[in-house]
Amino acid sequence: MMKSSSNFFKNDFETSPIELTATDLLEYIFCPRFTYFELYLKIPQHEEKRYKVEKGRTVHEQKNKINPQYLRKKIECTDRKFSVYIDGLDGCKGIVDEVLTLADGTMAPLDYKYAEYKETTFRNHRLQLVYYAKLIKSRYGKPVNRGFIIYTRSKNKIVEVPIHERDFNNLESTISEMFKIITTGKYPEPTAYRTACFDCCYKNICEGRV
Ligand code: SF4
Repeated sequence: MMKSSSNFFKNDFETSPIELTATDLLEYIFCPRFTYFELYLKIPQHEEKRYKVEKGRTVHEQKNKINPQYLRKKIECTDRKFSVYIDGLDGCKGIVDEVLTLADGTMAPLDYKYAEYKETTFRNHRLQLVYYAKLIKSRYGKPVNRGFIIYTRSKNKIVEVPIHERDFNNLESTISEMFKIITTGKYPEPTAYRTACFDCCYKNICEGRV
């Protein structure tokens, strides 16, 4: 059976708390060596080269413009909490744009993207949403089986994303791998996106690349 990250954390890392964010997770997916250089060796990335999570300050301006009635009509929610900071106490934390309570008693994350809806970027957005769903589950103890993404540059298109148990399991497995790198210094495989290396701030110290 897969070892959950929370057990992994409690058993192995109690004396050395780790704080992961959704950005750390997306960077690991993009290139696991980012995790090694940044979170194990503690070499900061140069901001201008940093892998960008598609979210700008303008999202927060945009979302205020979205009519609450529109949302209520599209998503049957009974309560909305905004910009909720959650520390999962298992090494994972983050700020969820909106935490929704749905009419069926479940809860759901809602995430705004200042971007157009594209299948190529959807995979990462979905992963981020599962991460937020995990935080909500741990904080509120309620079932979370879906989430929502609003693409502000696609006329506020709302995409409903089903979240299954296997998504949580896959996420835990990924987080465990990240913890392993951060605590043991296990040197991970390079990114599969070779072209990313040319523009990477770690290229001069990254073995076998560029
Ligand atoms: S040079 Fe390539 S493999 Fe190395 S950290 Fe950068 S993106 Fe990853």
